[in-house]
Amino acid sequence: MIALDESHDPARRSWVEKANLPDAEFPIQNLPFGMFRTERGARLGVAIGGSILDLVAIAELLGDVGGIVTECEGKGLAPLIGRDPKAWSAVRRAVGRVLERGASQGAAAAEHLVPMSAVEMLMPLRPGGYIDFFASIEHATNVGRIFRPDNPLLPNYKYVPIAYNGRVSTIRPSGAPVQRPRGQQRPQSEGAAPAVAPSRALDYEMELGFFLGGTSRIGEPVPVDKAWEHIFGFCLLNDWSARDIQAWEYQPLGPFLGKSFATTISPWIVTAEALKPFRAAPPSRPDGDPQPLPYLAEPAGALGGIDIRLEAHLRSSAEDSGATKLGGASSLGLYWTPGQMVAHMTSNGCNVEAGDLLGSGTISSRDGGLGSLIEITRGAAEPLKLKDGTTRRYLEDGDELILRGRCERDGFVSIGFGACAGRIGPAL
Ligand code: MN
Repeated sequence: MIALDESHDPARRSWVEKANLPDAEFPIQNLPFGMFRTERGARLGVAIGGSILDLVAIAELLGDVGGIVTECEGKGLAPLIGRDPKAWSAVRRAVGRVLERGASQGAAAAEHLVPMSAVEMLMPLRPGGYIDFFASIEHATNVGRIFRPDNPLLPNYKYVPIAYNGRVSTIRPSGAPVQRPRGQQRPQSEGAAPAVAPSRALDYEMELGFFLGGTSRIGEPVPVDKAWEHIFGFCLLNDWSARDIQAWEYQPLGPFLGKSFATTISPWIVTAEALKPFRAAPPSRPDGDPQPLPYLAEPAGALGGIDIRLEAHLRSSAEDSGATKLGGASSLGLYWTPGQMVAHMTSNGCNVEAGDLLGSGTISSRDGGLGSLIEITRGAAEPLKLKDGTTRRYLEDGDELILRGRCERDGFVSIGFGACAGRIGPAL
């Protein structure tokens, strides 16, 4: 079982009244961490209702852990995320005590609430590494069927949590523009040279990201039953993908320029601790599938999965009639759990470095929720109709893609992630 405490109590309320609304993404049970910019520079904050509590400004109200918060000024979340889960919990508990209804420090803290709409969100920290997995077997099968109709799923899939090493410098927070990439594309005819042109197959990938914390030693794998001690928190992640560039370059070493031009994340890191009520055992593997090898096996009864409902929406520049919902799916259906991804990543002796960012891979579901346009349009064969009457095979200039995430469970307060949005700008 996973121990819950007063920070998960559904009866708890905040003196920030907007945090108590039933559809609030950031109630007092959430308290995600993020970095934002004010005229005083980059500041560490916690989202509450529609506001941000400036933690550096209220550091003296946080008691023993105030020093950790002060260290984060100008450095992002690294000084916090580099510590252990006890320190993460201590900061979260201290912030909760300041924000709860009736708190004696409430009046002092209220002076350091900033409206979310008034500030720019920054990257929570610069990840040391970025690894993107491929953990949805539905996505792997759907995409595999487009490229290899007779052989959609490669034989290693059910044994190996497949991943590629991504690019860190182009990971940016929600709202940063995304420039359409140019690149080599498959020759139009046999023997011809490849064209270099703006991508005509720009896609999104609806994913969950998670930041690793603490540090492990090189040469010492992190076992699957200890992996959550290294998972600090989660965000939404869009692994923008140029399918035409990807299709031409990906064999034999995997994706490169088809993906490295941009990745967007939601700027609030929802802590693994806030997500504890939404942990669950993943669905059992279908009959006939192999069980995970011993180093990847979750202990019996482990709640290794996490039930976060993600949705993708597309808003075109042409209309004002609202966004079109593209698809939704839960991360609980993934074939590999976050713990299995960490255990696999470190199984060869590679270490965890605090601040590493891992992506789940595109999340599609058994019941037909699809996490990318290549799946929705079956490789551009079946255009998708938007609310404004136009159609899409892939993303067009001016399109805005918005990911949303939410956790719901009877008996608990629902929590959200905030938006992970990016608008496509024209190629140079
Ligand atoms: Mn991906």
